[in-house]
Amino acid sequence: MGGGTLPRPGEVSLAHHGVLFLDELPEFRRDVLEALRQPIEEGRITVTRAHGAVAFPARCMLVAAMNPCPCGHRGDACRACVCSPAQRTRYLRRLSGPLIDRVDLHVEVPRVSGADLTAQALGEASSEVRARVVLARGLQAARGAGFGTEGLTNATMPHARIRHGWGLGEEPRRFLHHAIDRLSLSPRGYERVVRVARTIADLEGAGEIGVPHIAEALAYRTLDRSEEPGGEGG
Ligand SMILES: [Zn+2]
Repeated sequence: MGGGTLPRPGEVSLAHHGVLFLDELPEFRRDVLEALRQPIEEGRITVTRAHGAVAFPARCMLVAAMNPCPCGHRGDACRACVCSPAQRTRYLRRLSGPLIDRVDLHVEVPRVSGADLTAQALGEASSEVRARVVLARGLQAARGAGFGTEGLTNATMPHARIRHGWGLGEEPRRFLHHAIDRLSLSPRGYERVVRVARTIADLEGAGEIGVPHIAEALAYRTLDRSEEPGGEGG
């Protein structure tokens, strides 16, 4: 996170405008995990020392990996999980609700099958994906034009611009309203779902956010639906 007698930037600042990848996320110290909340929200980190505070830039894309349980086999079709419910809950509780709330996409990655590993067919080329991303970012930059928010992406667009500029149609709004109640989404979680839905729509070249875009964005919040409450840590 940065620090020292003469404050120096830490990993989160060295990853500014890049990717910060944390493997085995629940193994990190709780205070370190909670300190990630500020850079995720504000794109900077404040290092406080006895003689004052220093802020370092820290706008990175946070990518983290974790096991589904301490033994790593929960949900695996080939091997049985040997963890007790209490062990699993304790493991997942190392991540606080407020931290999980700030992560846009939660994706479960199943074991790669032998058939997939030995398959001859190639997946979509990175260059094709890149072209789609460049197009979507162009749409986002254009949407900000004239509002003093040029060059911003859906993730960094100011809150007010989303509230007033990204009007949701009647049907998507009703759908989202029910989802918020059913999943007990926080206001922050709600806003993140809208931002992600906007990006999904942009990747499709869709002008308006539709119900399928919101449904897909909600599907990326699996940790909100896990049985363990992360608590109010930090
Ligand atoms: Zn297990």
